[in-house]
Amino acid sequence: NGRDGLDSLSLPKADFRGLIPFEKSFYVECPAVQAMSDTEVAQYRQLRDITVEGREVPKPIRFFHEANFPDYCMQAIAKSGFVEPTPIQAQGWPMALKGRDVIGIAETGSGKTLSYILPGLVHVGAQPRLEQGDGPIVLILAPTRELAVQIQAEATKFGSYSRTRSTCIYGGAPKGPQIRDLRRGVEIVIATPGRLIDMLEAGHTNLRRVTYLVLDEADRMLDMGFEPQIRKILAQIRPDRQTLYWSATWPREVETLARQFLQNPYKGNDRNS
Ligand code: AMP
Repeated sequence: NGRDGLDSLSLPKADFRGLIPFEKSFYVECPAVQAMSDTEVAQYRQLRDITVEGREVPKPIRFFHEANFPDYCMQAIAKSGFVEPTPIQAQGWPMALKGRDVIGIAETGSGKTLSYILPGLVHVGAQPRLEQGDGPIVLILAPTRELAVQIQAEATKFGSYSRTRSTCIYGGAPKGPQIRDLRRGVEIVIATPGRLIDMLEAGHTNLRRVTYLVLDEADRMLDMGFEPQIRKILAQIRPDRQTLYWSATWPREVETLARQFLQNPYKGNDRNS
C-alpha cells in the first residue's frame, strides 16, 4: 500500500561522513570483445536491436564467457541451460560490471533481472562480509509483491553458488519471518518501498552497507505513487553507491527521477522498449 510507512516516525538523517571506500569496478574486457571493430559493434547491436546512449559505453558481449564472470556465476548459467545472453544482458552486463550507473529500458521477459543480479553477486563477492547488525549490500526496490518474489527466485537460484543470501520484504504478509531474515543478515534485500520503510523505522535493518542499488520497474513505482517513499529510502543510502535504474517506458517523470539520483549514467534499450 502506497501510504505505508509515511505517516509514522521519520527516519533520522543519514550521516555520510567518513565512509569507507568500496569496490565497484570489476569489468575485464575479454580479448575477443576488445578486438571487435566499431563496425562489428554497430552490426551486433543492430542485429539484436540494442540501442545505447551515454559516454564510454562498453562494447556488448556476444557469449556468456565473454562477460568474464567468476565461476560461481558461470556454474549457475550452465545449470540454467540458457543458450546465449539476451540483448539487454549482452549490453547490460559490461555496463553494470564497470561500476557506473546504468539506465536499462527493458520489459519483463527480456532477461533484465539477471542483467542486474549477476553483477550484483560479483559486487557482493568483492565487499567485506556482513557483520552482526549490518544491513544488506544489494538493495532491489520493486513495485509489487509479485515482482519482488520473482526477483528473489532468480537471486536464490543464481546466488546459491556463492552462498549469497537474499530475502524479500513486502507488505500484506506477516512481518515476523521478514524481521528474522533481516536480523540474521542477508546480502541482498528485495523490497517494496512501504514495508521497507516500516522495517527501517522499527530498526530491523539499515541501509548503511548498501553500495549496489536497483530500482526495478521505476515507471510502475511512480505510477503507483511510491515517489515519496523512494526519496525517503534513497536518502538513507550513501551517494557514491552504484545505481541501476530499470523501466519499461521512459516518460518525463521517470527521466526526472533518474536525473536526480543517477550520476553520469549510460542507457541501454532492448528491442521492444
Ligand atoms: P525477466 O525479464 O528478468 O523477467 O526474465 C524472464 C525469463 O527469462 C526468466 O524466466 C529468466 O530466467 C529467463 N532468462 C533470463 N536470461 C535468459 C537467457 N539468457 N536465455 C534464456 N532465458 C533467460
